Amino acid sequence: MRRIAVSLALVLAAIGCSRQQPPAPPASAPSAAASNAPVTGPFTAQELGQFTALGAIDTHSHAFQNAPALYALLKKLNLHTVDILVVDDYDPEQKDLSKERADAWKVVRGSDGYMVLCTTFDPFQFNQPHFAQNAIRGLNRDFAQGAIAVKIWKNVGMEIKDAKGNYIMPDNPMFEPIFKDIAAHNKTLIAHLADPNTIWEAPNPASPDYDYYTQHPELYMYAIKGAPPKPAILVARDHILEANPNLRVVGAHLGSMEADFTQLAQHLDKYPNFAVDMAARMPYVEMQPRADIIAFITKYQDRLIYGTDNELFPKSNAPETMKEWENRYADDWRYLATNDTILYRDKRVQGLALPQSILRKLYHDNAVKWFPGVLGSSH
Ligand SMILES: [Zn+2]
Repeated sequence: MRRIAVSLALVLAAIGCSRQQPPAPPASAPSAAASNAPVTGPFTAQELGQFTALGAIDTHSHAFQNAPALYALLKKLNLHTVDILVVDDYDPEQKDLSKERADAWKVVRGSDGYMVLCTTFDPFQFNQPHFAQNAIRGLNRDFAQGAIAVKIWKNVGMEIKDAKGNYIMPDNPMFEPIFKDIAAHNKTLIAHLADPNTIWEAPNPASPDYDYYTQHPELYMYAIKGAPPKPAILVARDHILEANPNLRVVGAHLGSMEADFTQLAQHLDKYPNFAVDMAARMPYVEMQPRADIIAFITKYQDRLIYGTDNELFPKSNAPETMKEWENRYADDWRYLATNDTILYRDKRVQGLALPQSILRKLYHDNAVKWFPGVLGSSH
């Protein structure tokens, strides 16, 4: 029971990428006994050997606590991670970029080379004089210390408005010098722009995102008068790809095209500078017919990057949170790498048993290619 509840809580907690959630209610245990009973919980010793051999990289995490339990887990799993900064004015712990930045650097430096930083800029400063120059100064300071990427978050397009009440879109010319600077430094832009379709649709308790939007009405676009439609935000994102062909852009959360793999495929075909991470969207992957998703992953095996959206905040109970992290790594790996039966929201899903060559790309090679420097410098 405990193991399943933890997995479900993780799925629900991650959808918004860093806004914190209360734990999900416990799920009921499956009526075990059956030989194909769902497998979940931490790695077994044998599984751990297979996982550590991958040299896995999680390119999407948010860790802001200098916690020995975190470093011990990374070492145990032989796992590198990218620690991503986000400025969130609704979250007291993520409102202040300078504090978050200092916390994250402590974590990166404490990690014995297992973590690297993805920095960000504060978009709420957009109406201040010299916005872009100031943002670039902060980014370049982080680049000089080893930061490998920059995050732009969904509050651009879904939340921040100018004095006239118009939403600031991601392709606003004010951001362009920032994108140019990122490309000039051979760093990567992580773009979490827009959100799942369900955020624009009437409430649906069956949606994987239901708990998220009921807990974050400020981002529930369906209920906000005058909010930009999702396609407008994605078009603005695409303008960045078109205007900056030398900028590597990794679309977080399947590039927010989680419900339409045809649309995602078209984007990957059209924009060679675009790849996507799978963070917090495994439920959408798992909902696809098995043969279809195997075909999709096989075709785009060079453009899909493993990530989780795992979070560790300054006040989190680190040892407990690390159990949840490990369970998620184990559950995701079982789905991608084995034939095991996985349980997702009371639905049984069969693992994809992807070949080793593809697993290695999803977990390692693509991260190295799309995020130069991701393996850091030590050990
Ligand atoms: Zn995130």
